[in-house]
Amino acid sequence: MDTEHTATSPITVLICESSAVQLRILKQAVQEAGFEVHATQSAEDALSLLRLMPIDIFLTGIEVGGVTGLEACWSLKSNTETESIYTIVITASGEERRLEESLDAGADDFIRKPVNMTELRARLRAASRLIRMQKQFRRLAETDALTGAANRRSFMSYLDMQMTQARRTAQPFSVAMLDLDHFKSINDTHGHAAGDTVLIETVKSIQAQLRDRDMLGRLGGEEFAVIFHNAELDDAYGATERLRLALQNLNITQDSGKVIPVTASLGLAESLPDADFDTPEALLQAADDALYEAKSGGRNRVVMAQRSDNSIDRLHRYG
Ligand code: GH3
Ligand code: MG
Ligand code: MG
Repeated sequence: MDTEHTATSPITVLICESSAVQLRILKQAVQEAGFEVHATQSAEDALSLLRLMPIDIFLTGIEVGGVTGLEACWSLKSNTETESIYTIVITASGEERRLEESLDAGADDFIRKPVNMTELRARLRAASRLIRMQKQFRRLAETDALTGAANRRSFMSYLDMQMTQARRTAQPFSVAMLDLDHFKSINDTHGHAAGDTVLIETVKSIQAQLRDRDMLGRLGGEEFAVIFHNAELDDAYGATERLRLALQNLNITQDSGKVIPVTASLGLAESLPDADFDTPEALLQAADDALYEAKSGGRNRVVMAQRSDNSIDRLHRYG
């Protein structure tokens, strides 16, 4: 799912300094310390970049054009999307009052001019440790501990984002609900630990087949959901059938040599702009109703949600 937050990915620093000479020196020093660096001479440009790009650390002077570095700090810290950007303010000697102001403005640290590069690198390393830890915590809060799939909460917020974006771009996408068949009897026959192994292998198998922008969530127990990004029902149906077959062929063996039979039932629904299932809840409900039909129809199968004629018309128009 999300590989950009791994411990090895570089920390990105945006440097904002009005003096071109200073900026070049800072940029080189920070780059040499192994950071990915972006640079700008105005706080206005910095604010635009901070909203557009994933920046971890904002290193800024105080006097940087029409908007000051302090105003940029205020602006960052008052916006939930940018408030966690670690901000270091560069202060000139004799600017004690400004130093206090910058801390009030939400700066996380400061460094005095003339900037000692060894000290700067040490501060950046300390900030990096904190940032990596925060990312780790965030990742833990978003994923299911047993399987590593997105948990229900983060899956739902991803689905919400996906739907908003799909509306804006008039792109279709589909959602599958998946529930393992007779999972209780897997636990009862082979033990809870074997049940856990089945859940872990189920997630590995599904994730191996998804594309980058698809998303798998564990909604609870042995129930999962998949978002097929930019996929109409027919495409998603093919992908869902492949998931079903892959699970059927998992072939998990116990130490005793016994094979644990794994199958899943799946329900699939497509989201179309201004048509059926146009809220995340309605879409999931439609997929869940289809899943229920897959169960009552004999399990180990995929059922597609029924659409009204109106949305079938729309499907053809988008197709
Ligand atoms: P169906 O084919 O109708 O879906 O039947 P089922 O047995 O899969 O469904 P049921 O809801 O009766 O049972 C689900 C079982 O999943 C019961 C619960 O103990 C088990 N379960 C839920 N979470 C976990 C888990 O994290 N690990 C293990 N091993 N079992 C779990
Ligand atoms: Mg089940
Ligand atoms: Mg279930």
